[in-house]
Amino acid sequence: MNGEAEANGGPPFYMASGAEVEIFTQCHQRHLAVMLKGPTGCGKTRFVEHMAWRLGRPLITVSCHDDLTASDLIGRFHIRHDGTQWQDGPLTRAVREGAICYLDEVVEARQDTVVLVHPLTDYRRVLPVDKTGELIEAAPGFQLVVSYNPGYQRMLKDLKPSTRQRFVALDFSFPSPEQEARVVAHESGIDAGMAHGLVALGGRLRMLQDQGLAEVPSTRLLVHAGRLMAGGIEARQACHTAIVAPLSDDPTLVSAMRDLVDATF
Ligand code: ADP
Repeated sequence: MNGEAEANGGPPFYMASGAEVEIFTQCHQRHLAVMLKGPTGCGKTRFVEHMAWRLGRPLITVSCHDDLTASDLIGRFHIRHDGTQWQDGPLTRAVREGAICYLDEVVEARQDTVVLVHPLTDYRRVLPVDKTGELIEAAPGFQLVVSYNPGYQRMLKDLKPSTRQRFVALDFSFPSPEQEARVVAHESGIDAGMAHGLVALGGRLRMLQDQGLAEVPSTRLLVHAGRLMAGGIEARQACHTAIVAPLSDDPTLVSAMRDLVDATF
């Protein structure tokens, strides 16, 4: 499993589905910021972890939310008994260290926070820190990466065009059944037959989107069910608890999903 690979100093396991590894590598070398677009749980975070390992860069991740302020990203003065002391925020640290800075679910952040990254995404590669008066030039190796789920809350939130056009966008979607089964088997420790069963179930459940299922089961949920199964939990029980129950509270949808589980295992 991934944890073991990391413990042995190997790369975090990532199953590529196209040319994303090559494209990201080029973006890194050519100082292009990258946007990872796709539904939750389809491997965006794992991909960034994998790329940071391959490129030998530290990875600094920020989970964005609507209270995220400029100070949370850039830094703030802390009051101490003998005065005040400046402490870099995660973005400033990444800029100084030449790290990959990953803003997860960037659309959740306030627009006035997001625009702070603009000067880092063009030829200037600088971060103005108003509170200290510094203009920090990004160290070589610094790269900005954001993730974005286009389906989620699309009507309520979107990125400004002036922000979007600063990024190269890589599209992520669920892998092919063969690849997804390999991911599920690798990540959970179940055998290939069980993994194919979970992936077949995932495919059937994803078709329920047309019947009102707001979020379809991601690879992550299939992995969760696989882990329970690997731990000895019976397959139907594992699927009910790890896939069906987290996805919906609607009795009709839950019942439809349970029927699909029972038809699969
Ligand atoms: P996202 O960031 O898109 O929400 P993650 O990268 O956190 O999703 O993926 C969730 C989990 O699904 C991972 O921890 C991993 O176990 C598994 N996973 C999904 N896609 C892949 C993939 N292509 N390669 C390896 N693992 C994957």
